[in-house]
Amino acid sequence: MPVTVDVVRAALAGVALPASAGSLAASGRLSDILVRSGEVIVSIAIAPAEATAFEPVRQAAEAATAALPGVTKARAVLTSDATPATVQPTVPLAAPRAAAVATPQPVAVARPMRLPSLAGIRHIVAVASGKGGVGKSTTAANLALALAAASDAGARQLQVGVLDADIYGPSMPKLFALKGTPRILSGRTLAPLEGYGLKVMSIGFLVEPSKAMIWRGPMVASAITQMLRDVAWGELDVLVVDMPPGTGDAQLSLAQTAPLSGAVIVSTPQDLALIDARRGVAMFRDTGVPILGLVENMSYFVCDDCGKRHHIFANGGARVEAKRLGVPFLGEVPLDPIIRERSDAGLPVVVSEPHSTAAQAYRSIAEHLRRALALA
Ligand code: ADP
Repeated sequence: MPVTVDVVRAALAGVALPASAGSLAASGRLSDILVRSGEVIVSIAIAPAEATAFEPVRQAAEAATAALPGVTKARAVLTSDATPATVQPTVPLAAPRAAAVATPQPVAVARPMRLPSLAGIRHIVAVASGKGGVGKSTTAANLALALAAASDAGARQLQVGVLDADIYGPSMPKLFALKGTPRILSGRTLAPLEGYGLKVMSIGFLVEPSKAMIWRGPMVASAITQMLRDVAWGELDVLVVDMPPGTGDAQLSLAQTAPLSGAVIVSTPQDLALIDARRGVAMFRDTGVPILGLVENMSYFVCDDCGKRHHIFANGGARVEAKRLGVPFLGEVPLDPIIRERSDAGLPVVVSEPHSTAAQAYRSIAEHLRRALALA
């Protein structure tokens, strides 16, 4: 018989809290029970100071769940809220800014397991880079806009969202010229903001970037997971996730747990950047996330005077690298000052300069993506 949430909850009635405080199931500490094809994740809400005392509870909950017939994999995690004195059964993500700042989320992530796919969202695509500054966020924003723009007269209009998960430097508020704190719709659900017809959620709307910088990897991954789950995305064909740059703990955690359809890796053509891009490809591959392809950003410079393409860094490094790695090459984006100027002004080129070479490059990459995701 397939395992259900109720069966798991019943099993957790046998798990006792510290200091004879009753059973875990009755305590209101169970903030989530997720079940998918025999895999179960149990989240237990604690105050940060309770982490040590609750570790035996976590282990017992994991063991009790794992022992159930039909469970192929079980994981229990401790999560903590901003209000340690009053642990609630649910953990609102979006509390006021100050509270969110003080909210280091997860405490224990032992054996990561991928979360179930999200109702209403067909594809979640990570846009990642091996290191910062290669134009990942700019590419993510313009690709999302290009995906949403009908590619040709007959093409279906896609519903697209953007989740800015770049906790170390959220760019979407600037790129989409959006400010403000998202509205709370119900207990723990947030309304995304809207920019150029896209639903946009950014960690920058919720936390002071300087505070988020110091979060440890699992905290970052948990905050982002909540943004995936607890935002009213509605029906989306594609949710583009602007990943934090690099291949550290946070990125690995996300790659392991988020229900991703695939990843796009952005690189500049230089050898050093390509070494980092290779690491990104390896990380997603190791976690079973398909690589949708490599994008070469700042690929060439078109001279105003002579109109010729100048490959100022190197020539086609990412294309060669993609071939070497056996992953698709999605296309090249020129180094074009207009991309930076328009991005800084909150007017991404795909919407503000749709006829530019740069916008055409993004649209062509979006076409490849549409096909890779069978959305063409
Ligand atoms: P990352 O997300 O990788 O850190 P960003 O997208 O924030 O990088 O881009 C870093 C800087 O480079 C920004 O100022 C951006 O406007 C600029 N930039 C990105 N791509 C291009 C491009 N193709 N041509 C010119 N400037 C670019």
